[in-house]
Amino acid sequence: MFQSINPATGAPGATHPEHSAAEVEERVARAHATWAEWRVTDLATRTDLLARIAEAFEADKRRLGELATQEMGKTLKSAIAEVEKCAAAFRYYAQNGPGMLAPRTVDVPGGKATSHYLPIGAVLAVMPWNFPYWQVVRWLAPTILAGNVGLLKHASLCQGVAAAIEETVIAAGAPAGLFQNLAIRSGKVGALIADDRIAAVTLTGSEGAGAKVAEAAGAALKKVVLELGGSDPFIVMPSADLDAAAKAAVTARTQNTGQSCICAKRMIVHADVYDAFLERFSAGMRAVVAGDPMDAATDMGPLSSEEQRQTVIDQLAQIEAAGGRLLLGGEPLPGKGAYMSAGILVDVPIDHPAAQEELFGPVAMLFRAEDIDAAIALANDVPFGLGASVWTSDEAEQERFTRDIASGMMAVNKMLASTPEAPFGGIKKSGHGRELGAYGLHEFMNLKTVFD
Ligand code: NDP
Repeated sequence: MFQSINPATGAPGATHPEHSAAEVEERVARAHATWAEWRVTDLATRTDLLARIAEAFEADKRRLGELATQEMGKTLKSAIAEVEKCAAAFRYYAQNGPGMLAPRTVDVPGGKATSHYLPIGAVLAVMPWNFPYWQVVRWLAPTILAGNVGLLKHASLCQGVAAAIEETVIAAGAPAGLFQNLAIRSGKVGALIADDRIAAVTLTGSEGAGAKVAEAAGAALKKVVLELGGSDPFIVMPSADLDAAAKAAVTARTQNTGQSCICAKRMIVHADVYDAFLERFSAGMRAVVAGDPMDAATDMGPLSSEEQRQTVIDQLAQIEAAGGRLLLGGEPLPGKGAYMSAGILVDVPIDHPAAQEELFGPVAMLFRAEDIDAAIALANDVPFGLGASVWTSDEAEQERFTRDIASGMMAVNKMLASTPEAPFGGIKKSGHGRELGAYGLHEFMNLKTVFD
């Protein structure tokens, strides 16, 4: 049994039975059989289904949102917004997908070559709890459009959400084997990747889980997309609008209680505006309301579990022992629930192992940089390369950041956020491959070239 625990109260919630080996086998066989039929469906069948799934998510957003809040603690308003974003992604691929799959022809000596996008089979997705709908949907929508089928191994702590996604997709009219949830522990994933009926695998989560999945995919010579952690820099230069930058920095660090791969985790501020930024940023962090995630006035719910909170507290303790200083917050809140306050760490020794990790909680590391070279060096001085946010109205500085920050994504004078239209992913230990947009769709397709 998977036991759900509400992180806002510590109270046990629903239980979900683990699938037996026979049930897993049945589901994998069904996926394989369904693929034989789904791969030859016309595009209108696929886009009609995507549009119906979008409606089903939209229609049920309150119930689905509540389920996520109970299982992993995010605020109900953000959970409902997440479900709405999922509906938008299904709609986006329904409306724009056919254009992305159009064959492309080039002239070659003696004739022409036409590239066709064809499905590859069943794709296994290993997904985390932090955006329990969105992480799944940004893979599932293009999977359905591509003519592939999907199998999900969701995080242990959001098995209710996993089952609800399956129910919603089937209720919208999907064939039974098009998308199936596998209620299994992570130890079962390696054997699935090795199974000939699984064509490819994608994982969103930690570096450790990513390395294990990549190892299994490598042994089986299968395509893998990895969307791993991040320690995104948020750089503020003297020409920035400091009020706007500080406001965005608070949201970028505390959204989802700091548990997003593209949360801004390291604020790197030019020395000329450091004090002015700090004054605004600390006022904003102090004002963040942590509390009951069901209450519309709450900014931050609890962390996803007591263990997750303890992980963050341990990381902070290690950084403090190495010379870091908590300027404010970053403390567990008394009483029930895995709550902690938003905080700011300064004097962080960036080369300390704990400071090099992903800090998956609402505490920002704040650094002073003497000039743009120092800011870029600091930004790049971690193993990750997912996103970045840079604040400057100087075009030459914007170009420097575009060229020199080692990341897969960068936002200029705004907070970084994912959106269905644009490719999403990282470099270095943040993973490889892209999700979303046409690039995400094409990752798990056979680009077949026909010469004639
Ligand atoms: P994990 O990376 O362990 O979990 C993500 C998914 O991978 C879950 O479905 C998990 O299953 C599965 N998984 C874990 N280990 C393996 C394995 N060896 N083989 C196959 N699948 C595996 O994240 P945690 O929940 O443990 O969080 C730990 C840290 O990971 C966080 O503090 C954060 O730093 C990072 N993280 C980053 C995310 C991001 O979006 N960048 C998202 C989530 C976590 P199960 O739940 O059953 O263990």
